[in-house]
Amino acid sequence: MNTTSGPNAPRPTPGAHSTPGAHSTPGGPTAVDTVERIPILDWTMPQLTQWLTDRSFPKFRAGQIFRWIYQRRANTFEQMTDLPKELRAQLDSAFEIFRSTTAAHQHSSDGTEKLLLQLADGGRIECVLLRDGPRRSICVSSQVGCAMGCVFCASGLDGVERNLTRGEILEQMLKLQQLLEPDERLSHIVMMGMGEPLANLPRVLDALEVAKDSDLGLGISPRRITISTVGLPPAIDKLAAADAPYHLAISLHAPNDELRNRLVPVNKNTGIDAILDAADRYFDKTRRRLTFEYVLLGGLNDSVQCARQLVQLLRGRTAMLNVIPYNPVPGLPYETPSPDAVLQFRRNLLDGGINVMFRQRKGDDIQAACGQLRRLREREPQVVGISQLPGSTT
Ligand code: SAH
Repeated sequence: MNTTSGPNAPRPTPGAHSTPGAHSTPGGPTAVDTVERIPILDWTMPQLTQWLTDRSFPKFRAGQIFRWIYQRRANTFEQMTDLPKELRAQLDSAFEIFRSTTAAHQHSSDGTEKLLLQLADGGRIECVLLRDGPRRSICVSSQVGCAMGCVFCASGLDGVERNLTRGEILEQMLKLQQLLEPDERLSHIVMMGMGEPLANLPRVLDALEVAKDSDLGLGISPRRITISTVGLPPAIDKLAAADAPYHLAISLHAPNDELRNRLVPVNKNTGIDAILDAADRYFDKTRRRLTFEYVLLGGLNDSVQCARQLVQLLRGRTAMLNVIPYNPVPGLPYETPSPDAVLQFRRNLLDGGINVMFRQRKGDDIQAACGQLRRLREREPQVVGISQLPGSTT
């Protein structure tokens, strides 16, 4: 597992002045005896091994603890019954496993479940479990809010608050894993929740290291992990250099800069050509087929001309185009195209020889689209329409 770095790096082991268990002192904490417990999901194997060694516990306990958390779905140290009682007590004093509370839990009739999590600092994020045949896919957030400002997306309407930590990204995965039946296993991860994963790349990569670790972590093949990005060329290059062979999905949404600048304002800083160049470099390095996502907005980017331009743009690339009908966001003026318009658009692309996929709608009745539930809970309760989660991998 990687060592976490940057502003969200884990705090050091509690020092000698700390009083184990003091966090539960009756009458409330005082300046002297307060010990904030460490989020264990922020910790790496070497860090936990060191902590155990410092306390004269054998090193192999670290592996046992991580397997309990990531594979055996424990949510308390007490459940780790093959650890000595003394160790469990010390772990409980020093660490927390889950730090968020579940502010909302919604079930869709199609098996999709969505969690709205309230983080320790009050920030709220969403994550989703999708059941599709044998697949158990999860959609995970990378930031509280989003700075990209895509005009049709609920996540970015209030801007970005902050990056999530490695532990907060992992916590979503574990909380969704806990929703599974004992005989169900997570199979796919898509970083397509709130936020721009490539704007928080170090933490996303740290968390995905654990997700793909089959010895101590979740054991999900990197082929089944998708990072979805608005398209930030330098960060795409960094991802390629990190030698993490994840599936890359690029949210294109428009076939020319004039339209994309309107729909995806950060495009003004990059332009489509630079994004496609970076995508080509990613493909050359990883040989992984890319996915381009295209949210279909009625009357805006669903014309025959747009389809033709898209064909020109993507022709010759080993890529899949994932067309997603817009999910209405209350208060936004965009429209879901009619089924006929969707069909026609699809036909035009297929005629042009483009690999195109239209995803089944999932979670229609629970606002499963990016950032929708959070906004719903912040405002007046109201019924919003469709939701759907775009593409994933093999
Ligand atoms: N920031 C990343 C990942 C999060 S958004 C990105 O841009 O890819 C995940 C996907 O959901 C993106 O393709 C985004 O454009 C799409 N999306 C956002 N709001 C949507 C909506 N209301 N309807 C349909 N798709 C939406």
